[in-house]
Amino acid sequence: MILPIVGYGEPVLRKVGEIISPDYPNLDILIENMYDTMYNAYGVGLAAPQIGLAVRLFVIDTEPFSESDDLKTDEQAQLKAFKRTFINAKILKEEGNEWAFNEGCLSIPDVREDVYRKERITIEYCEEDFVIKTEVFEGLIARVIQHEYDHIEGILFTDKISTLKKTLIKKRLQNIMEGKIRADYKMKFANKKGR
Ligand SMILES: [Zn+2]
Repeated sequence: MILPIVGYGEPVLRKVGEIISPDYPNLDILIENMYDTMYNAYGVGLAAPQIGLAVRLFVIDTEPFSESDDLKTDEQAQLKAFKRTFINAKILKEEGNEWAFNEGCLSIPDVREDVYRKERITIEYCEEDFVIKTEVFEGLIARVIQHEYDHIEGILFTDKISTLKKTLIKKRLQNIMEGKIRADYKMKFANKKGR
């Protein structure tokens, strides 16, 4: 089922997500709905706060990135195959040089900005089986994880850009809050009038 994606300005996007227990009701259906919602919006990642739930859950499928021509063949193959559910994730370490990537977010349509992040992360998380594991990711996969992980910490990519750029996109963010935008997928806005 496709769920509405909450827009910039919704308070839930600023909450730190709560830990999910193995008896969380209908978790399998929630995860399935999140994948449906992400694919419908042509996203590569979606975090639970974006569908209105302040819990530590996000889903990722980097397949759309695998078609970029500027990547090495092995990286393309990796991106094509990477689909993963992250429950109760905790980033333990971020290392390497900071590099810029032009990020966007399904909660912030039509805004894209370069964001600097470190190239490699060590993350502890589990999937639906609730078996805790620790893994290292780098490159674009790490990038997508870092973006989604920020969501479960109440952080948005627009927090990480320069003051000047923040000023330049202020009006656009205001429009998103008021629902004065058109997205190709179902959304829910913070201050939309008349609804
Ligand atoms: Zn996002």
